[in-house]
Amino acid sequence: MSIVSAPIPSVHSIAELRRRVGSWRARGERIGFVPTMGALHEGHFSLVDEARRRADRVVVSVFVNPAQFGPSEDFDKYPRTLEADVEKLASARVDLCFAPSVEDVYPPGFATSVKVGGPAETDLEDRFRPTHFAGVAVVVAKLLNQAAADVAVFGEKDYQQLLIIRRLARDLDISTEIVGAPTLRESDGLAMSSRNIYLSKEERAAAPALYRALTKAARLIGEGEPIGHVMGEAREDVAAAGFAIDYLEARHAETLARIARRQEGPVRLLVAARIGTTRLIDNIAV
Ligand code: AMP
Repeated sequence: MSIVSAPIPSVHSIAELRRRVGSWRARGERIGFVPTMGALHEGHFSLVDEARRRADRVVVSVFVNPAQFGPSEDFDKYPRTLEADVEKLASARVDLCFAPSVEDVYPPGFATSVKVGGPAETDLEDRFRPTHFAGVAVVVAKLLNQAAADVAVFGEKDYQQLLIIRRLARDLDISTEIVGAPTLRESDGLAMSSRNIYLSKEERAAAPALYRALTKAARLIGEGEPIGHVMGEAREDVAAAGFAIDYLEARHAETLARIARRQEGPVRLLVAARIGTTRLIDNIAV
């Protein structure tokens, strides 16, 4: 038997989003918010589940934000599947899908930038995607203002992004509580990502090497092996699987500062690496 879900409202204008959220708030309901770029997968829905645990109403935004793509990145070919996304959101009993146009978010004359320091300046993603976090910061600041939610859920999958958003919300006195949720993985360990569809069959078969290298390195560091040595071996393992590594590093989990010994921190291992034309990122705690 197929389960037919009732359609959910999909709104495109900021004014309509505010009207709907305002009417829930007037009834004393708590609002949860999950910003996405669409092409929804189970990882996104684990964030929806987390938002539902913490709120009476859940809003999911679907917006492929041009500002966070570099000139040679995949903005044009990024998967856009709004109709299927809205159907999946209905099955997940999301209350509202907010899908603004680029013109709604960046109307003519738009001239504001949001520059975050701290975790955004740590020589990780920022080194390889120098304009990326400015684009993330401006759109997340806008979306958090637009949705005026009580709580917003972001994935640890984008770990540096999560720390930056926490910093941004604190620094700009945005009252929405920022919650991080764990990374959902395929059964072979590959972190779910909208970009996994870019992988060829061979690349997909090689891709779990990233998570394998991270888990092995985390275990060895946890057992007291020197970080420098362990990370060197992890880089060799990832390269041997066919990846070109942008970075594979052990960092302080709260500040992303470089770390030489496990005692200096809670430690987080973070990787970005390219296989073929696809760039994958992942991270785990030690
Ligand atoms: P995106 O649509 O890729 O911008 O992701 C939207 C949100 O989903 C971000 O907060 C991501 O960190 C989160 N996310 C993406 N992939 C996963 C995953 N595999 N598990 C959990 N959260 C994820």
